[in-house]
Amino acid sequence: MEMKKKKESATRIYREKLLEQKAQVERSVLSSVEQGRKFDAEDLIDPADQAVLSYQRELMFSEGTNKRTHLSLIRLALKRLNDGTYGECLMCGDTISPKRLEAVPWTPYCIGCQEKVESGEADEAELAA
Ligand SMILES: [Zn+2]
Repeated sequence: MEMKKKKESATRIYREKLLEQKAQVERSVLSSVEQGRKFDAEDLIDPADQAVLSYQRELMFSEGTNKRTHLSLIRLALKRLNDGTYGECLMCGDTISPKRLEAVPWTPYCIGCQEKVESGEADEAELAA
């Protein structure tokens, strides 16, 4: 009984962190979309500026993509919290260390699997739920 309570309060902390992070990323996605619009509105520029602008737009686009990926990781983590599978590595099923969850609460992998994914040793698990 005590164990369960302890687990529930940890879950609540992760949930709060995730929700906070989600709000933050959503806000910054919105502001980069707005910036993109501002650039589109400026059509009275010479070709040199145009090149700079399209480069900036590209940068913003990839930044936006990263944020969207981040956002979907956060959403999936929240879903795992609801499902009660939060904290289990999607790849090997091991428990992800609480320290790691505290630092990156949206991570789907334990540190070992994360390293394998990053080094290309392992394919990323199917994240879409
Ligand atoms: Zn793992």
